[in-house]
Amino acid sequence: MTLDPDLRAAVEAFAALPTVLVATDFDGALAPLVLDPMDSRPVEGGMPALTALAALPGTTVALVSGRAVGPLRQLSGAQKPILLLGSHGAEDSRRPDGLALSDEQRTLLQRLQDDLAALVEQHPGVRIEDKPAGRVVHTRGLDPGASSAALEAALALGARHTDLAVTPGKEVVELAVAHVGKGVALMALAQELGVDAVFYSGDDVTDEQGFEALADDQDGERAARRLTVRVGPGATTAQHRVADEPALVEVFRTMVAARRGAQAGGATVD
Ligand SMILES: [Mg+2]
Repeated sequence: MTLDPDLRAAVEAFAALPTVLVATDFDGALAPLVLDPMDSRPVEGGMPALTALAALPGTTVALVSGRAVGPLRQLSGAQKPILLLGSHGAEDSRRPDGLALSDEQRTLLQRLQDDLAALVEQHPGVRIEDKPAGRVVHTRGLDPGASSAALEAALALGARHTDLAVTPGKEVVELAVAHVGKGVALMALAQELGVDAVFYSGDDVTDEQGFEALADDQDGERAARRLTVRVGPGATTAQHRVADEPALVEVFRTMVAARRGAQAGGATVD
C-alpha cells in the first residue's frame, strides 16, 4: 500500500519535528466498526506502529475516544506510555482516580439510567453502553425505521434533561453528565506537553471537533504544523483523507520510519 504523495510529504515533514503529539480516534479509525461495540479490535499492525512511535524520543502517542478508558484499554491493548483519553476527554489514563462526579451529576446519571431502561422497553434491540460519565444508545443492526425512531427518542431524552451533553454519531447517541469534547481534550494535552505539532486522525463527527480545534490553535505556528487525517468518507475539515483503517496504519508506519530516519540523521531532539 502506498500513500498519496501529498500525505507522504506531510507525514515526513511532521516526523522531522523535535516534539510531537500523535493522537487518534479508535473506533472507525484504528478498529473497524462492528455490530457489538465490545467485539471491536484494532486492525493488524495498528497498535504495533503506535507502540513503536511512542518509544521514539520527543513523541507522545494518545488514543482519544468516546469510549470509557477501561474498555478502550482492554480492546486496544494499549500500554504505557501510550495515553488514553476516554469519554471524549472526560477521562485521562494518567489520573488513576478517573472521573469525579458531583452529587448533581450522580443524581442525573441515575435518572438517565431509569429513563433509558424505559427507552429499551419501547425500542427492542437497542443496546445501552455504560460509561463512567454517561450512557450510549446504540442502534446498529436495527432496521432503518426502528433505528431512527430509537435515536429520536434518545435525542428527546437528551433535550428533556438540559444538563446532559448530547453527542449524536453514526447509529449512536451519547448522553453524558460530564463532557469535555475531543477538541478541548486534544488542545489541553498539546498545551500541557508543549509539543511543536499535533497529528490527529478520526472517522466521525466528534473527530471534526479535533480537526477544527487544531486548525484554530492559538499557537499559530503549532496550528500551521498540524497534520489532520479523516478516515473514510464524509464531509471533513481535515487536511487529508485515507480510505480505511489499514490505510491509516500505513500512515503510522510511514511516520515511524521517517521519524527514525530524521532522528538518526542528527535532527535536534529534546
Ligand atoms: Mg470513530
